[in-house]
Amino acid sequence: MKKIMILAVGGTIAGKGQAGKSAEYKPGQASVQEIIDSVPGIEKLAEVQGKQFLNTASDNVTSKNLIDLANEINKLAKEDIDGFVVTHGTDTLEETAYFLNLTVKTNKPVVVVGSMRPATAISADGPMNLYQAVALAAHDDAVGKGVLIAFSDSIVGAREGQKINTFRTDAFDGRDFGVFGYLHDDNVYFINQSTKKHTVDTEFDVSELTDLPKVGIAYFHLDADVKILDYIYKNSEAIVIAGAGNGGASKDWGMKLKKKKEKKPIVSCSRIGNGYVSKRAKSPENYINSGTLNPQKARILLQLALTKTKDFAEILRMFQTY
Ligand code: ASP
Repeated sequence: MKKIMILAVGGTIAGKGQAGKSAEYKPGQASVQEIIDSVPGIEKLAEVQGKQFLNTASDNVTSKNLIDLANEINKLAKEDIDGFVVTHGTDTLEETAYFLNLTVKTNKPVVVVGSMRPATAISADGPMNLYQAVALAAHDDAVGKGVLIAFSDSIVGAREGQKINTFRTDAFDGRDFGVFGYLHDDNVYFINQSTKKHTVDTEFDVSELTDLPKVGIAYFHLDADVKILDYIYKNSEAIVIAGAGNGGASKDWGMKLKKKKEKKPIVSCSRIGNGYVSKRAKSPENYINSGTLNPQKARILLQLALTKTKDFAEILRMFQTY
């Protein structure tokens, strides 16, 4: 029987509230053992062990937490453990999953899971999601596929997937990239996988890091104040622009960034969260197009890129690689 380690970070899957209700609750309340004990039959899937890594709403997860989590998995991956499940709040789950996808140095499955309804709700989705996450982490077909998200009967890629609904249980999807497969009870069916480098094939090493470079995201909207750009530019090592459409922003925003004397990486993304943001022929060299990464994931990659280099061409290469 495979050995699966469950690392609990918190979120709604560990949430408790008014009996039966889904809307009012506190995330990060139940312990990892309580969560495991709420899943009938989990012991038939694998030899499961739990470790309380944190117990918080995922909005509180910090860059340092991400580094510690990756290092914890990298340390445990050297032991007699066959796969990992990370229970996590859904709000920032895709950021953690993508970070781990770029920093864990193992082929062993790492599956991130959460839930939309707290443990105390009618038809809580956490137990089934966790059951399927363990089934996935224990499955041979998940080996070497990079970090995966198990959610609502689907397997979604850590790079490709995103939260697409604020409250419905079918909350994760790869949009244009679809799902990597299906989970039906404990049956695992892969139909797809990532074409991008991940895990053992990345150049990122967080073993000696205690924090990540600061990177801010500026969200463009009609009449957006240019002063927000000054703030982020001054207080961050680089900036991600959540632009309209194919990375668009007003003339004022464009001029503001072009006039900055100190050239920092500017990653052009889209607030749409779907499609491709392309490189403009006339863009200055510090402009990097995000391709298919949404702003929150572009930020994660940019933070990791800055741990290696400040060279714009190198950062662009990383955006094309990961
Ligand atoms: N606020 C929660 C969190 O991200 C939401 C969830 O888990 O669904 O921690």
